[in-house]
Amino acid sequence: MAATDLAATATARREALKQVLAQARACARCPELAATRNTVVFGSGNADAELMFVGEAPGATEDERGVPFVGRAGKLLDQLLDEIDLTREAVFVANVLQCRPPGNRDPLPIEIDNCHEYLLRKVELIEPTVICTLGNFSTKLLRGDPTGITRLHGQPEVLTLGARAVRLYPIFHPAAALYTPRMLETLREDFARLPELLALGAPPQPPPGELDDPPAAVELDDQPLAPGLDGAGEREDSPERARAAPGEEAPGAPPAPDQLGLF
Ligand code: URA
Repeated sequence: MAATDLAATATARREALKQVLAQARACARCPELAATRNTVVFGSGNADAELMFVGEAPGATEDERGVPFVGRAGKLLDQLLDEIDLTREAVFVANVLQCRPPGNRDPLPIEIDNCHEYLLRKVELIEPTVICTLGNFSTKLLRGDPTGITRLHGQPEVLTLGARAVRLYPIFHPAAALYTPRMLETLREDFARLPELLALGAPPQPPPGELDDPPAAVELDDQPLAPGLDGAGEREDSPERARAAPGEEAPGAPPAPDQLGLF
């Protein structure tokens, strides 16, 4: 494809992603989350990224600022990226859930299900080569299998998501590694292998009509809307949840000017 055609498709995909963002911001599929969130944390980074990270769900800081991984776990993610000469601007970071579960409880199966289409749509539009799942929730969701991260971390596999084949690379969640030095060491080792995985390029794509799974149903237009929910409700923190650990809060942090800022 000519360079100008490539640029045109990247522009079209970015515009489509903005539309999905607009839909996500009005989403009320999970009534409890829609009623308690401050912001919808859609994801941030490069809309044309080769590398995409998928975490669990926004914490308190992310909910305040509308950007994923901006608390302590996010700082660790930034540091690990820096160690492999990457920046947040070069990658795309999203979560299984776009809204913060109250009290930082675990995402409910119905919530994961409700948000799944958004995630698949992001993958479809960003077209990453490598998807790095951070921890159990995203790994189990995207693999469609209950095998845990302790068994799978550091082992890349080719997976078809919707219409795209990607290299899935499960690694430990940075929030878990914050408190366990050995886990941090393993996370760092797994991270260090990302450049060689990226260097492999995209895996062979399935020919149209020969997909393992049918393309994801990514019709997001028919969902109920929740206008004017921004600013609703105060959050509580749950000290036992790693992503709400002391120090993760960033009181007074400026709200993200626009989640599309880095696209
Ligand atoms: N922040 C996020 O955005 N996601 C997580 O999974 C944890 C912290």
